[in-house]
Amino acid sequence: MLAPAVMAQPALGPAPAPTPAALEFSLIKTSEVSTLEGLSYSGGSYFASTRLQHIAVLVRHPQGDFLFDGGLGKNIDAQFKDMPLWARPFFSYGPVTPARQQLDAAGLTRIPRIFLSHAHWDHASALVDFPEAEVWLSEAEKAYLASPHAVSVFPSQIAPPAIRWHSYAWSDKAVLGFSHSLDIFGDGSAVLLPLPGHTPGSVGLLLTTASGRQYFFIGDSVWKSRAIVEEKPKMWIASALVDEDQPRTMETISSLHRVQQQNPLLLIIPAHDAQVHDAIGYFPHFVK
Ligand SMILES: [Zn+2]
Repeated sequence: MLAPAVMAQPALGPAPAPTPAALEFSLIKTSEVSTLEGLSYSGGSYFASTRLQHIAVLVRHPQGDFLFDGGLGKNIDAQFKDMPLWARPFFSYGPVTPARQQLDAAGLTRIPRIFLSHAHWDHASALVDFPEAEVWLSEAEKAYLASPHAVSVFPSQIAPPAIRWHSYAWSDKAVLGFSHSLDIFGDGSAVLLPLPGHTPGSVGLLLTTASGRQYFFIGDSVWKSRAIVEEKPKMWIASALVDEDQPRTMETISSLHRVQQQNPLLLIIPAHDAQVHDAIGYFPHFVK
């Protein structure tokens, strides 16, 4: 987008921020499930229901498109057999419309890269649906996958040899108060930030659209945005089941609470919070 010609520069004042590239994004909803609010975060009501969703985020940028997470994929029913029987009652999902199916129907048949917030089953399910994509994750998450790991990581999703894994190291550039970051395109429009705790290599994605608005996708650090506002962890049984390092997860939640207080216009988006997703809208709607 071209800005109108500027006839005169102000003599004083801070240098203008660089204009972000024409980044836009869309939420691809692949599935939803209802649960009790009290199960979604500590402090939620046990008399109110809430919806949790599985989404992929499609990011479009002049230098190339990518997905942040893939939602539930075509093979989720077969993959879910990797969940131990004792753990299955704690996890469920509704009817699935895979991201690959939605993208193909819209003529978007090639996704060059997928970045994972983390490698849990409900985020990595669709990797095998995108054999053309490089799959990127943090070095800590790659190491996590190479070690014995939790019930929420499925061999059927991460073992296929066709998956083209890549890992990245952080730069020392501080962003939003986080000491490390990774600027995907080098223009500040899509920046990965470390959010350790839920898994060792969990990351968030900070997007700045052409309008200048900022959106922070925070994976599973919390399941509901109220948990950031109230600085609360997941319900304790859920946290014990899914958060690899509970104290570290709580430190990350406190960091996100601080970020929200210091940046009230920043929209923080948990991976599963349907209420936040609904307010943004879904593919093929793009946020610009
Ligand atoms: Zn998770």
